[in-house]
Amino acid sequence: MQPPELLSTASPVFWYEMPELPEVETVANGVHDRVHGQTIERVWTSGKPQTFKSPEAEIAEALTGARIDRVRRVGKTIVVSLGGKRANSEFLVHLGMTGRLLVSAPAVEVPKHTHAILTLSGGNELRFVDARRFGRLSVRVSEEEAYGGPGIEPLTIGEEEFIALFRGRKTPIKAALLNQSLLHGVGNIYADESLFRAGIRPRKQAGRLTRKQLLKLREALKLVLAHAIELGGSSVSDYVDADGVRGFFQLEHRVYMRTGEPCLVCGSPIKKIVVGGRSTHYCAVCQN
Ligand SMILES: [Zn+2]
Repeated sequence: MQPPELLSTASPVFWYEMPELPEVETVANGVHDRVHGQTIERVWTSGKPQTFKSPEAEIAEALTGARIDRVRRVGKTIVVSLGGKRANSEFLVHLGMTGRLLVSAPAVEVPKHTHAILTLSGGNELRFVDARRFGRLSVRVSEEEAYGGPGIEPLTIGEEEFIALFRGRKTPIKAALLNQSLLHGVGNIYADESLFRAGIRPRKQAGRLTRKQLLKLREALKLVLAHAIELGGSSVSDYVDADGVRGFFQLEHRVYMRTGEPCLVCGSPIKKIVVGGRSTHYCAVCQN
């Protein structure tokens, strides 16, 4: 889905974009701080089939009476490690496009499109709200190993590992960055922003990038992701942190959604093309 045109880039808060690594990390940390150590006393689910990747009865059975030991991010998935009677199980929350996790007092009105409510021993409720229903809830048994996701974590990937990921790949580097089985958690915003900072054209074949370019890209990617996490995730339309407060649009996007505006480095207008079905923004002078 293409975002609607914005009135101004100063207030880009109303378009649909998937939450990316920094937003998911912010939500996971926010939820962890508010709920870890608490026991899930009751579980209510909405019965909407798309939302539940595991059968609802299985989710309710796994969660009821379990203690929340830890909430963390793996790729773009929020992983809730369960303890107590359900040690070795994990509750996985994927926010999809518009999913939100809210920690609310029971007295706070339940928002429209709420699909799960976990009543916690501390007195609050953990609610999953998702208007467009691309989000997914599931449970898994983690006896063997904790959930690791399909790809590699971009914040901690080593130089050689990063270079090896793209070797021989004929796809454009932008598409390779979005491929969740390579690196997980990178989406449209941070792919465009890191390619700009690394000076690499989005359509450039991944396998043709030099070692030097790939190292620069790795650095740029880590930098933009870490910066966005520090700022609490840059804002997307339905991204709301664990308190229900909108994330702040603080990361200064240099190319993303700045089509036609002057490049902040060289002044030439930012271009928009489509790569791998996604709108892609770049500077034709600074990136080659
Ligand atoms: Zn430029």
